[in-house]
Amino acid sequence: MIIDGKKVAADIRNKIKSQLGHFPNTKITLATVIVGNNPAGQLYVGMKHREANAAGIHSKHIDLDENISQRDLEEQISLLADDDDVHGILVQLPLPKHLNKERMLSKIPSYKDVDGLTDVNMGRLLQGHKQLVPCTPLGVIRLIEAYNIETSGRNAVVVGRSSLVGLPQMLLLSEKGADATVTLAHSRTNDLAEVCKNADILVAAVGVPAIIKADFVKPGAMVFDVGVSRVDDKIQGDVDCDAVSKIAGGITPMPGGTGPMTVACLLENTILAATLQDVLPRSH
Ligand code: NAP
Repeated sequence: MIIDGKKVAADIRNKIKSQLGHFPNTKITLATVIVGNNPAGQLYVGMKHREANAAGIHSKHIDLDENISQRDLEEQISLLADDDDVHGILVQLPLPKHLNKERMLSKIPSYKDVDGLTDVNMGRLLQGHKQLVPCTPLGVIRLIEAYNIETSGRNAVVVGRSSLVGLPQMLLLSEKGADATVTLAHSRTNDLAEVCKNADILVAAVGVPAIIKADFVKPGAMVFDVGVSRVDDKIQGDVDCDAVSKIAGGITPMPGGTGPMTVACLLENTILAATLQDVLPRSH
């Protein structure tokens, strides 16, 4: 089974569009920020704007100089934080090396943090009362829901432990309601193949092309490929898709799997951020 992220993402976008249709006088705005000349970042942000606009969400973009100081960056973020017409703030990562990501994130109010990366939103997720959570792991959860994939009591393995993907993925899969038993693997994991083979649900968020081979995968497992690498000018995931798709019960394609879901969940988070700011009704 191909787990079609493009289709599920389009369903989410259309649902948001029709929800926003009930509030024609309410303008929801997502602000994005890129620091420096980052072609990949520009591409991703361009896509986020196009999808936001297609869903009826307005967007504004700020390009900041590569050499901006920490203080000036924080000032720019504070301006967006104080702007009542901006409901979501996304700063495209990574930042240039001289800038401190944590200090920058601390300037984003938790209720505008559509990437779910601030300490408050991470803490909420950890404590079991999540609000805004990181878009990529949320996208995997939305795919699991859309395809009615059972998680309760199942073994899940997440490969990669970043705060952007792997760690929140582990928390979302193991929280009450999802109830999977989760193993978090990383670069120091012994015998990754053996660990992955235990997975009914396998999420690969590494960034090493085709690291997940056919002999890593339990027959019938659901495989979510998050990693993105460029090999000979082609996009390659973490999963050796041709070989693994012969064994897995379901697999996300790359591209067309987790990528579109990340963008769809950004839109979903922007709507949630607007409700947290009482710009949209809470029941919405
Ligand atoms: P990251 O911060 O570099 O984290 C990578 C993780 O992979 C680390 O935890 C690292 O372990 C682990 N790792 C590295 N080599 C490994 C190996 N040989 N065996 C097992 N684990 C290994 O990256 P990230 O931000 O989480 O992103 C991961 C990938 O997902 C990247 O390719 C990124 O481009 C992609 N991504 C895709 C989407 C999407 O929408 N599809 C969204 C975000 C990111 P250590 O902690 O031990 O170093």
